[in-house]
Amino acid sequence: MSCFCGGSNFCPECGNVLPLPGILDIVCCPRCSFKIRVSEFLGQEIHSAVVFSPLEQSSVAQDEQDSEMKGPVIDRRCSRCNKEGMIYHTRQMRSADEGQTVFFTCIHCRFQEKEDS
Ligand SMILES: [Zn+2]
Ligand SMILES: [Zn+2]
Repeated sequence: MSCFCGGSNFCPECGNVLPLPGILDIVCCPRCSFKIRVSEFLGQEIHSAVVFSPLEQSSVAQDEQDSEMKGPVIDRRCSRCNKEGMIYHTRQMRSADEGQTVFFTCIHCRFQEKEDS
């Protein structure tokens, strides 16, 4: 089904079919270099009321920080404060070959040690 009843996509100067408006806000006729603003081209005023919604703040960083204080507490002596009780948690390294790195976070002073498995 073809429909040529639009009629508004033709250059008023030479009758050439105008390209669809792209990134620019001006439509140029490829034959006679007639230029028309897209707002006029569409026959309506485009109000500059485009509201850019602020980018959602990613909560990933916060989650990652929290994960250091989550996990099973094991009887490991902190090498800084010399108290027992450290949170055991693992973190997958980027390369699968490297395996997991085990982290220990002291529940007393938040000192962090790591141990490659
Ligand atoms: Zn033209
Ligand atoms: Zn400690």
